[in-house]
Amino acid sequence: MVTQFLSINSKINNINQINYTSKEGITDLPVMESFYTIQGEGYYQGSAAYFIRLGGCDVGCVWCDVKDSWDASKHPQLNIDTIVSDATAEVNGNTLADSVNNVIAVITGGEPLMHNLNHLTTALKLKGFRTNIETSGSSTLSGSWDWICLSPKKFKAPLPEVIPFANELKVVIFNQSDFAWAETYAAQVSESCKLYLQPEWDKASVVTPLIIDYIKANPKWELSLQLHKYINVP
Ligand code: SF4
Repeated sequence: MVTQFLSINSKINNINQINYTSKEGITDLPVMESFYTIQGEGYYQGSAAYFIRLGGCDVGCVWCDVKDSWDASKHPQLNIDTIVSDATAEVNGNTLADSVNNVIAVITGGEPLMHNLNHLTTALKLKGFRTNIETSGSSTLSGSWDWICLSPKKFKAPLPEVIPFANELKVVIFNQSDFAWAETYAAQVSESCKLYLQPEWDKASVVTPLIIDYIKANPKWELSLQLHKYINVP
């Protein structure tokens, strides 16, 4: 899927290059926070990952646990070169090393696709990062990605053109009706796309047993837990 994506992605990047040229002024992005930690969710759960959480979200999930991210203007606009050099330095423990060896950089939000991410992902790759994104898919795809985690939300649906590029579909389960809703997206992603069901954190005690039963009956799905919340890392 990655190879397939990369070949399709090169076409998308050509299209986005046009967008990017018209947005040449985009050298800064609103950064709510960035940190080096363990990925707690989905396919890369348990792997070292540098997170960059961008401000701005127009999706409006009622159970959102990062509502402070919604207003991009609340967060400092940081130069992309600074964002990437900070990432490289933190991953390398502030040694003088100028690149990383395939460490994952996860771009999240907020809804990160509200921003054109071509420049950021190119700069991260030049430093040796693998680029991952966590997105609802509700805005136009930009950037060059090694892994796309699509987490569709009922509050603003993914754009149909984004769905085929998902390497991972992660659906947050809030109530019983979400299982049928999850299946509507499982039917639209590529055959190689990994499928995860994740309990909404505040409902976890109620919905996790439902998810376990559902996965036992529908083994194409796997369980994603927010491991970082159990081990108390960001
Ligand atoms: S898409 Fe993410 S950041 Fe935006 S409201 Fe939903 S959970 Fe919160």
